[in-house]
Amino acid sequence: MSYKIAIDGPSSAGKSTIAKMLAKELGYVYIDTGAMYRAIGFYLIENKIDIHDENKVVSVLNNIDVTLDYDDENNLHVFLNGKDISNKIRTQEVGEAASVCSQYLKVREKLVSLQRKLAEEKSCCMDGRDIASNVLPNANLKLYVSASDECRAKRRYLEEKEKGIDTTVDKVLEELKARDYRDTHREHNPLTRVSDAIDIDTTDKTSDEVVDDILKRFF
Ligand code: C5P
Repeated sequence: MSYKIAIDGPSSAGKSTIAKMLAKELGYVYIDTGAMYRAIGFYLIENKIDIHDENKVVSVLNNIDVTLDYDDENNLHVFLNGKDISNKIRTQEVGEAASVCSQYLKVREKLVSLQRKLAEEKSCCMDGRDIASNVLPNANLKLYVSASDECRAKRRYLEEKEKGIDTTVDKVLEELKARDYRDTHREHNPLTRVSDAIDIDTTDKTSDEVVDDILKRFF
């Protein structure tokens, strides 16, 4: 029987690092749903489509094919219309476009059905914003991953600095808060903590500590 782990939480709380590590330890498939919304955001930017124009965005959805695949080392790759765009989607601009277009019901319906299909009959670790509440409501384990605002901003700031992006912790914090607000207040499938979720606070903890603790408690 397959086992499903649903991981939700705000940006930069450590969800994807934990999901990836758990999937590796347990031999499960890792499904990054944020990368799928980012792929759509990337398409919209590349094709100069106004992300705030819902009708326009919906009208091009049939031209967008998003797929996930894994290389020999089991690293996840995201494909947009057959092209590997994995190293182009981790920018602030693409994250912002993903956050705006993920508000549209048709965008969500397209990706949610794909996400459920990817999870079919496989043990998987899926992370996002609406996994426990919408995509996999019957998941065996539901984790809500969070960290203090300051800790998330510092993490994101260090990531951006490493990429050579000139920013400040305060600016990053402001962007994170705007994204959190949109993700928790949107009409369709906002980020929520379901009542049977287990809280995982990653503030001031290493990913190894967090993952070891989850493995000890639940496996
Ligand atoms: O997790 P990540 O930062 O890659 O996600 C990018 C954006 O995609 C989020 O800010 C959110 O708006 C959207 N998203 C979503 N539902 C998911 C995963 C991501 O709406 N399951």
